[in-house]
Amino acid sequence: MDSQQLMELSKKHMWLPFTQMTDYERDPLIIESADGVILKDIDGKEYLDGYSSLWLNVHGHSKKELNDAIKEQLDKIAHSTLLGAANVPSILLAKKLVDIAPSDLTRVFYSDSGATAVEIAVKMAYQYWENKGIKGKTKFVTLSNGYHGDTVGTMSVGSIELYHKVYTSLLFDALVIPYPVIYRHSSQDEEVVKEESIQKLRKLFEERHEEIAGMTVEPIMQGAGGMNVMPKGYLKEVEQLCREFNILLIADEVATGFGRTGKMFSVEHEDVKPDLMTVAKGLTGGYLPVAATLATEEIYNAFYGEYSEMKTFFHGHSYTGNQLGCAVALANLEIFEKENLVEKTNEKAKYITELLEEVSELENVGDVRQHGLMCGIELVEDKKTKQSFPSEQRIGYHATLKMRELSMLTRPVGRDTIVFMPPLTTTKEQLKEMVDILKQGIILVTESLDDALIK
Ligand code: PMP
Repeated sequence: MDSQQLMELSKKHMWLPFTQMTDYERDPLIIESADGVILKDIDGKEYLDGYSSLWLNVHGHSKKELNDAIKEQLDKIAHSTLLGAANVPSILLAKKLVDIAPSDLTRVFYSDSGATAVEIAVKMAYQYWENKGIKGKTKFVTLSNGYHGDTVGTMSVGSIELYHKVYTSLLFDALVIPYPVIYRHSSQDEEVVKEESIQKLRKLFEERHEEIAGMTVEPIMQGAGGMNVMPKGYLKEVEQLCREFNILLIADEVATGFGRTGKMFSVEHEDVKPDLMTVAKGLTGGYLPVAATLATEEIYNAFYGEYSEMKTFFHGHSYTGNQLGCAVALANLEIFEKENLVEKTNEKAKYITELLEEVSELENVGDVRQHGLMCGIELVEDKKTKQSFPSEQRIGYHATLKMRELSMLTRPVGRDTIVFMPPLTTTKEQLKEMVDILKQGIILVTESLDDALIK
C-alpha cells in the first residue's frame, strides 16, 4: 500500500489519543521503522526522537539485545495468565525490581500501563486501611497539575483542568495541594516556595488525616502538568509528613523512573522510601506495555493471612505479567548495569544544561527546567511579566510542528511547555543537533506570530 493510501485510511479510521480534532486536517505522521534515535516515516523522511517516543524509549530503537530477548522468549511462550499462576520472566523481573527499588519495597504487582499501575496503587492504599480495620481513611491527596493517567481512578487523583474538567462529575474528589512552582511564584527563593506548599499540606493533614488514605506524587519532576521541578527538600518533607500523620506515600515513577532524572528512581534524590511505587514507560526500554506497582511487605501483609473474603486484592488484567514484556524488561535492566547507564546519563545531563543556555536566552523562552534528561522549555509572550501566549494560539504545538519540519519529534505539555526528553543513549552530537532544532523551531514559530497559519 502506498503512503497516500495509508494516509487516507488513517484519516478515515484512526482515532488518535490526545489529538485535537482540527489536527486531523493535516496529513498524519505515520512512522514505519526506526534505528537508534532516528525514526523513519512511510515516505522515508527521518526524525530525531526528541521525546523518547512519549518519554519511554531508553536505549534507542531496534536495540539488538532487546530484540533478541523478545525473539528468544517468543520461541518459549508469548503469554500465559498471571491470575493464580506465575511465569518465569515475571518472577525474575520481580526479583530484579525489588533489588533496585528503594529498600522497603518487596512486592511487585504487574499491569500494563502507567495509568493501571497508579490505579492499582490507589486501590491497594484504599483497601489496606479497610483490611487493617481502620475506618474512614478513604480520601487521597494530590498536587495541582498532577498527572497519573486517564482511567477514572487516576483522573480522580490527577488535577490537570484541561484534561479532567469534562469528566468532573464522574470522578471521586481528591484533596489538592498547590504544586510549588518556582517560576510562577512571586518569590524566587526555593525555600519560600517549598515552605508555602508544605505548610498547606501540614494544615490539611492536621485537620483531616483520619480521612486520608494516601498521597500521590510525581517525585522531583512533574511531567504532563508542565515539567515542573520540586524545590530541594520538598519531597523529603512530604515523606516526613506522610509518616507523621499515618498516610501512605504513593510515588508515581512512571515518567521519572529508570534513570530519566539522573537516578535509577527519582525518589533516590532525597532518599525517600515510598509505601507504594509505580513504574511503566522505561521499564521495558520502551518496547512493550508492562507496568508494575511495588508495595512494602507491610501493605502486602494486610491482604494476606487467614482466610477472609477481603484477603484478596481484587484486580488483574488479561495481559498482566506478559512474558515477552517481562523478558525484554529484564534485558533492559541488564543493559543499565552493563553500560553503567545512570552515571552516563548524568554526564549527558550536564552537557544538555550547557546547550540549553542558548535556548533560555531566546526572547520568548520564559523558563528552562531540567532534571537529568527530563527537560521542559516554557514559551511565554512576555519574558519580563511571564505572561503566557493566549491558549488559542497553541504556540507550543506550532513550535513542535516547526521542529517536525526540521526533523525532530516532540510534543508540548501544560501551557506551551516543550518537552525535551531524548533516549538516554543519545550521543552528544545528536543532542547538539536536537537542541539546535529546538532552538530553530522556537525562533521560527515566534517570528511567524502574525502569520494567519498560527491559530
Ligand atoms: N503517571 C505519570 C507520571 C505519567 O507521566 C504518565 C504518562 N505520561 C502516566 C502515569 C500514565 O502512563 P500511561 O500513559 O502508560 O498510562
